[in-house]
Amino acid sequence: MQVIQVRDNSKDLVLSTELPTFLTADLLQCPNLPTLPSVAINILKIARSEQPSVNDYANAIERDPALTLRIITLANSAFFSRSHSEIHACREATARLGLETTMAAVMSFSLLHNRAVDSHIQRVWMRSIIASLAARQLAVHLCPSMAGPVFTAALLQDIGILALRATYPKEADGLYSEGLLTHRQLAESEQRFFGCDHSQVGAWLAAKWGLPTSLAQHICDSHGDYDIAAPDMLCIQLAGSIADAWLSPHPAQAFVSVIRELETLDGTHALSLRDLLDKIHQQLPALADMLQMAAPPVQDNETLLAEAQQLLFQQTLLLNARLDTQQAELALLRQRQDALEERSRIDALTGLANRAWLEEQLHQRFIACQEQSRTLSVVFIDLDHFKKLNDQYGHQTGDRVLEKFGHTLQTLIRDGDLAGRWGGEEFLIILPDENAKAAYFFAERIAQRLAKTPLAVDGEVPIHVSVSIGIACLDDGGFNGAEELIDAADKSMYFVKRSGRGGIAVYGERESADIPIND
Ligand code: GH3
Ligand code: MG
Ligand code: MG
Repeated sequence: MQVIQVRDNSKDLVLSTELPTFLTADLLQCPNLPTLPSVAINILKIARSEQPSVNDYANAIERDPALTLRIITLANSAFFSRSHSEIHACREATARLGLETTMAAVMSFSLLHNRAVDSHIQRVWMRSIIASLAARQLAVHLCPSMAGPVFTAALLQDIGILALRATYPKEADGLYSEGLLTHRQLAESEQRFFGCDHSQVGAWLAAKWGLPTSLAQHICDSHGDYDIAAPDMLCIQLAGSIADAWLSPHPAQAFVSVIRELETLDGTHALSLRDLLDKIHQQLPALADMLQMAAPPVQDNETLLAEAQQLLFQQTLLLNARLDTQQAELALLRQRQDALEERSRIDALTGLANRAWLEEQLHQRFIACQEQSRTLSVVFIDLDHFKKLNDQYGHQTGDRVLEKFGHTLQTLIRDGDLAGRWGGEEFLIILPDENAKAAYFFAERIAQRLAKTPLAVDGEVPIHVSVSIGIACLDDGGFNGAEELIDAADKSMYFVKRSGRGGIAVYGERESADIPIND
């Protein structure tokens, strides 16, 4: 028998994850590691030559009559013939199939022919065949020039399983006999057993046989996350999902995920899944037959996709309903939080800002005014003889007076002003962009309102309250902080108290303070 030397590419291969050392050693020592028959090795040699020709391929294939027959049958099948006339020679068959597909067909045929093919191996190859047809069809849309290599890689993507089964027959029995595992679960189990999965072993084996390193890389990445940057890789990976869905015990549910993926990925949303499945449906029997595989499961694609769309619709509705509930809950939480925040800023009795909020706001506004060279005034108000009022009419009436006074302030301020209760019967109003004169007019309006309108009644008797008001304006300068401004307004207010109450004093303008407004 003629001995043919094959270049071992496994040393040139750069895998994304290296094979564990023990595994490489075991694979190399395995006496039953799948090998390629001489016809396949010959084809490989020709493929690597400078100008591989259809004639060279045909000559190599014709040495194996069984293979020749299969290649001619495949070329005559609906997959490749369509309107073409029937052909009888290997040369024409190779020309019709193209070199790339011929090579893939020779490899697969060689790997399956004359070997014990149990139900697991059947299933693995069935997945590969469906994936190769899907990958090829996807490539027609996404990367037409790569349709051949993509078909080959998808068809040979699971050869690693052959190597692992041959090297670890005992472990493989347990691992692969559970027909229930999905392809992803199978890969995860292999990871646990061998420290890598069959895609990496397959890449190593492909390189060892002398297949192109690019093909080995495609096999290696067949289980990876969708690679949007490399359309050829994306075709192989998506085709894997389509094949899994095709063979799933619940195909409609499985296709829901495929539909979602095709809709979200760049460039694939315009693809018609129906056309894709129909093409696979047409081409599958010929390819399965060429590999002497059992008849593939037949699907009614129209019903299947209608069911998948219906499921997708239901799931989307459910998802939207869940989203609506979550949004409503979130809105309620926000409302509660806002209410809590509001409450933490508000004085319960008067509904005005509380002291903490007044201090924070004044601090912020003081800085903003300094930065933007704007002015601001504060008005400090203390109710006169409030203790006496409490003593005379009771604490509850005192409370009503404070409440009513708060309301009065609210009606007198403008948008942007902030009125608050400083504590007890003391109030503070922040007037942005107002100078001392404007603040004085504002204070006068308060005093006039109080003179006109009683804050409570005792039976028929109206209870009028007077106030002492101190004003401080940023314009008067020299203030180093909000506290100093409040302090100045407070001092002015005390000046009014000392002068007999019921009046207004502006910090730095003693003359105005000398004119208390007494009604
Ligand atoms: P002056 O004119 O000098 O300001 O005299 P005043 O009595 O108003 O001032 P003083 O500081 O001596 O007393 C304030 C009173 O205000 C004493 C306190 O019981 C009363 N007070 C403080 N907070 C409340 C409150 O929330 N409700 C009621 N009803 N009274 C309050
Ligand atoms: Mg795989
Ligand atoms: Mg008082």
